[in-house]
Amino acid sequence: MQIVCLDLEGVLIPEIWIAFAERTGIPELRRTTRDEPDYDKLMKYRLGILAEKKLGLHDIQDVISGLDPLPGACEFVEWLRPRFQVVILSDTFYEFAMPLMKHLGWPTLFCHRLEADGNGMLVNYHLRMPDQKRESVKAFKALNYRTIAAGDSYNDTAMLSEAHAGILFCPPDNVVREFPQFPVTRDYEALKTAILSASESIGE
Ligand SMILES: [Mg+2]
Repeated sequence: MQIVCLDLEGVLIPEIWIAFAERTGIPELRRTTRDEPDYDKLMKYRLGILAEKKLGLHDIQDVISGLDPLPGACEFVEWLRPRFQVVILSDTFYEFAMPLMKHLGWPTLFCHRLEADGNGMLVNYHLRMPDQKRESVKAFKALNYRTIAAGDSYNDTAMLSEAHAGILFCPPDNVVREFPQFPVTRDYEALKTAILSASESIGE
């Protein structure tokens, strides 16, 4: 049995902060790690804006439950799950992702969490651990699983390198250039083919 580790945002669902910014008309929330490389600063900035706009967890979840997975994502996950153990490794938060996971049939999701106060306002965030995508793959390997990982961006490259096989899905050009060792796929059919071919080459 092999484990397929999938990134979530950009692979199965849209980027949550960007979709949320669009739905709520709060352009400041479009800021990403590309604009502010200090993740802690970026998160504090985002939580500050949510507090200022008086958006609590329930408002946020209402918006997010109206978002859809990427076209074809549900069918892709349905195809994958009878063939492999599937674990989604994401740098998002349970409080954000869960309303979307129901569309995908509740696959296993490892990610971080947000902290709300008694009024449902978000006051802090808690990372599970540093570099959790890579550490999860390492742990699966320690359990004697062969692993295949797929993701779209920089924050996936450590897990792609750690896995027995890594595959890029719809990556930006700079990631393709910097990580030429990973095959590049741009739709779910190509990703399925790459996963099957990796599965044959890495052994049971
Ligand atoms: Mg991603």
